[in-house]
Amino acid sequence: MSHLFPTYKRWEVEPVTASGTVVTDKEGREYLDFTSGIGVCNLGHRPKNVEEAIVDQLGRFWHVSNLFEQGIQEQAAKLLAEAAALDLVFFANSGAEANEAAIKLAKKATGKSKIITFNQSFHGRTFGAMAATGQEKIKQGFGPMLKEFVHLPFNDLKAFENEIEKDTAAVMLEIVQGEGGIHIAGQEFLHSIEKACKKYGALLIIDEIQTGIGRTAKPFAYQHFGIKPDIVTVAKGLGSGLPIGAVIGKSGLGEFFGAGSHGSTFGGNPVSVAAAIATMESVFQEDFLSEVTEKGVYMTQLAEKNLAGLESVNEIRGLGMMVGIEMNIDIQPILKKLRDKNLLVLPAGENVIRLLPPLTVSKEEIVKAIEILKETIKLHSVTAV
Ligand SMILES: *Cc1c(COP(=O)(O)O)cnc(C)c1O
Repeated sequence: MSHLFPTYKRWEVEPVTASGTVVTDKEGREYLDFTSGIGVCNLGHRPKNVEEAIVDQLGRFWHVSNLFEQGIQEQAAKLLAEAAALDLVFFANSGAEANEAAIKLAKKATGKSKIITFNQSFHGRTFGAMAATGQEKIKQGFGPMLKEFVHLPFNDLKAFENEIEKDTAAVMLEIVQGEGGIHIAGQEFLHSIEKACKKYGALLIIDEIQTGIGRTAKPFAYQHFGIKPDIVTVAKGLGSGLPIGAVIGKSGLGEFFGAGSHGSTFGGNPVSVAAAIATMESVFQEDFLSEVTEKGVYMTQLAEKNLAGLESVNEIRGLGMMVGIEMNIDIQPILKKLRDKNLLVLPAGENVIRLLPPLTVSKEEIVKAIEILKETIKLHSVTAV
C-alpha cells in the first residue's frame, strides 16, 4: 500500500529523468511535457545555468537562517523588485505562503480587514489562502471559512463597484485564472479596479504565482495591461522547480513588516534563491521574452486552427504560454488518452484542457502536441454523440 495521503490522484507515469520538454519514465518511454510541473519548470527540466547555480551554492552553504545577512537574497530581491517596478521583497517557500504574507501585510498596512477576491480564483491551500480561493470544492469540509473574503464574479465591473468601499483592505486577483480554467481579466476591469483601490485606500494584490516569471511572455502578466499593483506574489516559476515564493511590495509597506512581525525558517533558502537568480537572469531578457511572445501566439493560433472547429471544443483562450481548451465533454478520459500518446497536459476549471509548456518549448514540439491533441479530441468528439 502507499503510505502517502491520497490527496492527489496520481498518474500512471513514473519519471526517472527529465530534460527540456521531455520526461522519461521507468520503461524508457519519453513524454512531451506540456505541464512544466504545473507551471514551475518555465525553462524546461534541468536548465543548465540553473543546475550550475544550484550546485555552486551546494558547495558553499545550504542554510544559515534569516538571522544572517545573505548577499544572495539581496541579489534575488533586486532582480524581482526591478522587474516588477516595486521595492521590497519577502521570501517564502511556496505560493500559498506568499499569499498568506500578502494578506497579513495588507491587513496590517491598512488597518482594515475586508478583502475582495473572485469566483474561480485559486490562491492556495493554507487557511487564509483557501478562504481567499473562489472555488467551493477547495473548501469543502474545512469550514467555517475566515470572514475577511468576499467573492465576486470575475470581470463583472458592476458587481465590483457595488462592493468596494472605504472598509476594503485589499483586492486580490489573478490576471489569468490558471486553476480556475484560463479566464483572462479584461483591460477595463483591471483599470477600474486600480482606480477604485486608490479612491478607497485599498491595496491591489496581484497573484502572479502561476502567471509570473515569463509565463505570459512578460515578467509579470499585469504588465500587459499597464496597471501598477501595490503587492505582487510569485512562486511556481521562480525557482525552476526548487521551492520558493515571494511577496514583492512598494516601499511604503516596509514599516508594517518590521523585525519580528513576520518570518519563515526556510524562506529565502540559499539553494532555492540561487535557482531563482539563475532563472530570472534567463527569463527576464528581452530577446528571450519576445521569443516566448512569438511561440505563444503560434501555439494559440495553431490550437485555434486545428481544434476550434471540433464539435467537443467550446472555446480556446490564451495569453503567452498559458492556453486553455474549453471542452463540452468530460476531459478526464481525454487526458488519459493523451498520456497514452506520450503527451502530458493539465486539467483546469470545469472542463478545460490546460497547456503550460516550458517557455523554451520548440515550434516542432508545439506542432507535435497540437497534432496529438487533434487526433485524440477528434476520436472523443465522435464517441461523445
Ligand atoms: C499554484 C498557485 C497557488 C498556490 O501555490 P502553492 O505553491 O501550491 O502553495 C496560488 N495562487 C495561484 C494563482 C496558483 O496558481
